[in-house]
Amino acid sequence: MQFSADIDQRINENVDPCDDFYGYSCFNPTAENGTSSLLASSIQKQIQNRLKAGLQFGDGEAVKKYFDLYNKCKALNTEKNFKQTLMDYVHVFDALKADDYNQKIDSSQLAKIMAYTLVYHDFSMISWLDKTKCPHKRFSDFGHLLAFEAPHVLSHYIDDYRHPEKADGIKNAFRERYALVDSTLEAGDLTKTASEMYDLEMKIVNVMPTLPIASQIKVVQTLTVKEAMTALPKFNWGIFVTSLAAYGEVDLLNGTNLDDYPLMFDELNRTKAILDIISNTPAELFRNYIKTRIVLHLKTVLQNDCEALTTSTLPLVKQYLYITDSYPTAAERNNFKNSATKTVDNIIASVRKMLEAIPWIKNDSKTYAGFTAKIDKMKKLIGYPDGLDDQTKLDQLHADFVLSADESLSSLFAKCSKFLAKSLLDDRVKRMLDVTYSFPQNDFFSNRIVVPMGALQTYSPNYVTAAIYGGIGAVIGHEIMHGFDDSGFQVDSDGYINPWMSNSSQVHFNSMVQCVIDEYNTFDFTDSKGKAIKINGILTAGENVADHGGLRAAYNAFLGDPEWNRTFPRTLKLKNTTNEQLFFLAYNRGFCDPYGDAVSAAFDMYSPKRVRVFGTLREFEPFRKAFNCPDTSKYAPEKQCWHAASGAQKSDVYSVVSSIAASILLSVFLILIV
Ligand SMILES: [Zn+2]
Repeated sequence: MQFSADIDQRINENVDPCDDFYGYSCFNPTAENGTSSLLASSIQKQIQNRLKAGLQFGDGEAVKKYFDLYNKCKALNTEKNFKQTLMDYVHVFDALKADDYNQKIDSSQLAKIMAYTLVYHDFSMISWLDKTKCPHKRFSDFGHLLAFEAPHVLSHYIDDYRHPEKADGIKNAFRERYALVDSTLEAGDLTKTASEMYDLEMKIVNVMPTLPIASQIKVVQTLTVKEAMTALPKFNWGIFVTSLAAYGEVDLLNGTNLDDYPLMFDELNRTKAILDIISNTPAELFRNYIKTRIVLHLKTVLQNDCEALTTSTLPLVKQYLYITDSYPTAAERNNFKNSATKTVDNIIASVRKMLEAIPWIKNDSKTYAGFTAKIDKMKKLIGYPDGLDDQTKLDQLHADFVLSADESLSSLFAKCSKFLAKSLLDDRVKRMLDVTYSFPQNDFFSNRIVVPMGALQTYSPNYVTAAIYGGIGAVIGHEIMHGFDDSGFQVDSDGYINPWMSNSSQVHFNSMVQCVIDEYNTFDFTDSKGKAIKINGILTAGENVADHGGLRAAYNAFLGDPEWNRTFPRTLKLKNTTNEQLFFLAYNRGFCDPYGDAVSAAFDMYSPKRVRVFGTLREFEPFRKAFNCPDTSKYAPEKQCWHAASGAQKSDVYSVVSSIAASILLSVFLILIV
């Protein structure tokens, strides 16, 4: 009922769905009722409410520690204590002060600083603290290794640095933070230092990629410590690994020789360029820069009334509480997991049928073998990992997190930082696997689809089938499709970098992608203020292609579900709505928020939401049929990319799109865009 009411109030009957479907089914969205913010804020509220509610009867030891940490932090988090904590941490770097301003940091010193900031402040200029499976077979026996990904700069959005009008704002942020660690500086010197820090970050931003992150997979490299010492000599990798193990109190080497320990680089040239920049920066400027970053981190985890410190330090407990609050009994949890798993299985099967019928996949033995192995071996993580709802196991995992009665804010913070770093380094916590995250993901190197509980807020075993598949189903379909896009076909069924598409298939694949690029480049939209919306067809191609495939896979799975034509509450505007129409209304619901027209600055690989809906629906015959759109409507374009993909005739599709699911499947892979 709630879902029907929500869909109902979004329908604007003054708009013709065949003219502007987004406008028709996304009436007057606000920041509060926009889909993405709704999903995220309801999770946030649930986590906050549990913190406010305090301990409940039957909570185990780990949960008690969670509340103990929160309450201690709240009692200690005064302005005076915060300042003292800040001083304790930034003064660590005073011992490294240079006599000569132009002196540079040496490679060992730099390695120690980076290990220290990673363990205590969760940042470094070259990496995130993360252990991952090695995607190269060469190291397949080793297990997990350290991964070096893109660094983050002060402002969360790298794109801010590419807009000169935002420069003053970033410089001011540096100025304010640096003033907290050095109160002796005159205003002029403060401005000068802030400006130098901004220039340093600008140099780093300039070597960061502008292409979609997904394309980075092509250059992932793994080197041993010994090889890295030669390839990237400006950083002492051996000292880095040993310092990290010492600060985190973890046996990283686990019997391996230090020289042989593997390190994975997202982009070796970028890491090299960043190290060149740092090694040419005056040591003192670099140290001061690190201090301002520490201020940023401390403010981030302590400013939010201790909630951030608690949830970031003990993420497994946070997730346990989220799971058990949402579904209190084991029976409810099992029912939820089993039925969501069935839905995902149906969508995976639908993708398989759709792709295997494409002639250039079906008739090419190399491509077909790679594709079928990958989809048949695709693993799933639905809701949460097994055991995360087990209180005894949770207590064991937190046995070494012990707070004493007389902690200071500074010592509390140190214990928290260290515990999180240790948990990441010994694999207790996986950074990417927070089940409160509200989007599904394709975990390439495990060949696994991850659909966290946060993303399943729009799912319930009791929801109408059309709503499930049109909503979360299409998003899951999108993620599965990424396994078979330009990055996905570089990675095989076991999660190793090992391209499986033949050269001739790739020609077909590329021509399909080119068709989508050309198509999105021609889209001509204006936003509500009359400003032109420009789409970059190349940058957005990967996501657009996944959108097309995801929608088709979800629709086929929907019609293949025995319960596809379920009855649903007939609110006023949904009086005559069919289940097919409801599917598309639920689909658009996933994109409905007030930023629908916005070209995303930070994530420019996505088309604006209005365009994502238009681009996919206009190529999808079942949509036109569901809403009886005439051949002259905007949703009946002359040229469609599926012609390029399969050579199918438009009339074939119309004849095949009948009411039975099997026929729909047939038509849809002809239309397919991957
Ligand atoms: Zn995507």
